[in-house]
Amino acid sequence: MNCIFCKIANHQQESDIVYEDEKIIVFKDINPHTLIHFLITPKKHIKSINHLKEDDRNLISDMVFLSKKLAKEYGIAGKGYRLVFHVGRGGGQIIDHLHLHLMGGGEIVNE
Ligand code: AMP
Ligand code: ZN
Repeated sequence: MNCIFCKIANHQQESDIVYEDEKIIVFKDINPHTLIHFLITPKKHIKSINHLKEDDRNLISDMVFLSKKLAKEYGIAGKGYRLVFHVGRGGGQIIDHLHLHLMGGGEIVNE
């Protein structure tokens, strides 16, 4: 399978890694919309929220709690931030490997 986020998770593709454990990798979005824009990504290949199995409950919970922790660590918890899952093409999903966008710290405006 030729999945770029699987490659990042396996360290076969370069990325700016913010956090990593056995099950989750967090890296900076290559095209950030906000000053802090991280992608909280399970190492296991899951295509999207539509493809979650019952066994993935703890994983999704861990991703949300990790977002909360990183938001605090990177100083955006107080002011506020966005957590976004794009689901399918109609939902704006481009990369077919589940990831949670953590965005805060102010918008980056590109002219
Ligand atoms: P989406 O599938 O719409 O939720 O968004 C995929 C996100 O992945 C976009 O915000 C891209 O900028 C980002 N992205 C794509 N390729 C890479 C990469 N190699 N490293 C980091 N971020 C990436
Ligand atoms: Zn993948």
